[in-house]
Amino acid sequence: MWTGRGRKRDRERLLAALAVVRPDLRSEPDLADLPIEIVNLQDRMPSGFFVSIGKQVEGTEPLDLDRDDDLLLAEVAAAVQDSVMWGLAGKFTVWPVCDIHDLGCHVDAASASWSCNGGGGHAVAGIGQLNAPS
Ligand SMILES: [Zn+2]
Repeated sequence: MWTGRGRKRDRERLLAALAVVRPDLRSEPDLADLPIEIVNLQDRMPSGFFVSIGKQVEGTEPLDLDRDDDLLLAEVAAAVQDSVMWGLAGKFTVWPVCDIHDLGCHVDAASASWSCNGGGGHAVAGIGQLNAPS
């Protein structure tokens, strides 16, 4: 069972991970100002924490806190991506996209990066390091 203190630390870990991911949204002008946050729905489901956009969590998976910080970062990044892709920002958006291959990226947890399957597969940028459009 979680103690109150454990829950607070979980929330801090999630907020720290979200703070790393959030600048990546600036890579897409429509996403730069999304009201994205971590919400705790433990009163409704045991795993509790979700990434949300404007309080919506439909289509996204609860965050698994039983992970080290590196994997938790990857999980939060993937949840942010899911939230964007599921249209919680108001429309379906493929994000992020590899500029070289024009393909949607996925999170590679092992390298904490956004990766593309084009050209045999390559890392596009570290999580939190996507370039803003010039
Ligand atoms: Zn690519």
